[in-house]
Amino acid sequence: MPEVYNWHLGRKMSYVFDEAHPKKQFAAVFNINRCIGCQTCTGACKATWTFSKGQEYMWWNNTESKPYGGYPQHWDIKILQQLDEAHAAAGKKAEWDISQASDTAPYGVYNGMTISEAAGAAEQALGYLPEDKEWRAPLFYEDTSTAYKGDRLGISQEGASLPEHQTWFFYLTRLCNHCTYPACAAACPRKAIYKRPEDGIVLIDQARCRGYRKCVEQCPYKKSMYRGTTRTSEKCVGCYPRVEGNDPLSDGVPMETRCVAVCPGKIRLNGLVDIAEDGAWAEAPQHPLYYLIKVEKVALPLYPQFGTEPNIYYIPPRWAPRSYLRQMFGPGVDEAIARYTAPSRQLLAVLQLFRTTQRMLFRFEIEEGPLVLETEVNGEPWKMYNDTVIGFDAKGREAVRLSVVEPLHERPAERMNSI
Ligand code: SF4
Ligand code: SF4
Ligand code: SF4
Repeated sequence: MPEVYNWHLGRKMSYVFDEAHPKKQFAAVFNINRCIGCQTCTGACKATWTFSKGQEYMWWNNTESKPYGGYPQHWDIKILQQLDEAHAAAGKKAEWDISQASDTAPYGVYNGMTISEAAGAAEQALGYLPEDKEWRAPLFYEDTSTAYKGDRLGISQEGASLPEHQTWFFYLTRLCNHCTYPACAAACPRKAIYKRPEDGIVLIDQARCRGYRKCVEQCPYKKSMYRGTTRTSEKCVGCYPRVEGNDPLSDGVPMETRCVAVCPGKIRLNGLVDIAEDGAWAEAPQHPLYYLIKVEKVALPLYPQFGTEPNIYYIPPRWAPRSYLRQMFGPGVDEAIARYTAPSRQLLAVLQLFRTTQRMLFRFEIEEGPLVLETEVNGEPWKMYNDTVIGFDAKGREAVRLSVVEPLHERPAERMNSI
């Protein structure tokens, strides 16, 4: 198999196709700390794309409660278990060497096997085909926390406090990761799955698909789904008409997807990053996604050890046990949490940009404002400034302007009781 470079793993890995990259890559950052589990994203995708016969159990976007929830049920536990068994059989360990962290390997080097490297000779990747019953209850274990140890009812009498809660759960909202090295495309015997050169969105050609479900089996995130009425597989299309700027509202510039644009928790920021000739992200520290993922490193890939180089990034929740988070988001978790709990002046401003306009933002600028707070965070002095952050769309036009401190409008006395 050809060797390709996976920057999440900090090393080359084997993949079925030669290394090839789009000009731009569809990507997003989701701030888990802000997700309220309202499923508005889930409903928006359903109402836009999957409301037809045969799609009743198809949720291209879903929000599940971790650690117990999952759609399909226990998808990540099952693939992690397969990966563990493959490591045990090969006498290897799924370990990271963070001492080798560098610009091209920001999380260090993964010395374990990916789902592709752990597969037997007959398969492109480790995987399994969920049974129908595993897809039927997307909110199974919703809002179910871990039990408090040492109490008969599993309830803490003292309450919880940071840095880690003993009783915890969090919402993990998910869609197709439009992976750099998609396992679904590698698995398809019909070569019906392709990655668009203009934006890296991964699509299934419905005319070529014969419904063999190899993509359903081998996507480790279980984001390819089978539709019985058409006998083909379908998946998130990245709302490509909006990304192309063809939505009537978009004024010809790329817009954020439906699931991103509706999020009331303001947890999502979606955009396109430039990819350089060598496949690396072109340096763009003023691009909000590049800044969050590459400069501040507060947003991390989901299960990077699977080896598909997913392009949806997560700001990890600060209250869940670190060992669980490291398994889910890799070894960058501790640095990410330390950085965003005492954010730099610039990071605090960029974090305001989430869900403020439907237009994708390609650049930000910051106008410095006055000092408004001096305090201590994580045992260190910390200062907050009321800076203004300005976001620009694909045409370089100002799309949004916000201050760090939310403006306060006092209602005039004569209108005190008006609605
Ligand atoms: S998340 Fe799954 S379906 Fe989406 S591109 Fe990656 S491997 Fe394919
Ligand atoms: S990007 Fe579009 S198609 Fe994909 S999950 Fe979100 S709303 Fe659905
Ligand atoms: S709409 Fe936003 S806040 Fe609500 S579940 Fe989805 S990601 Fe979370």
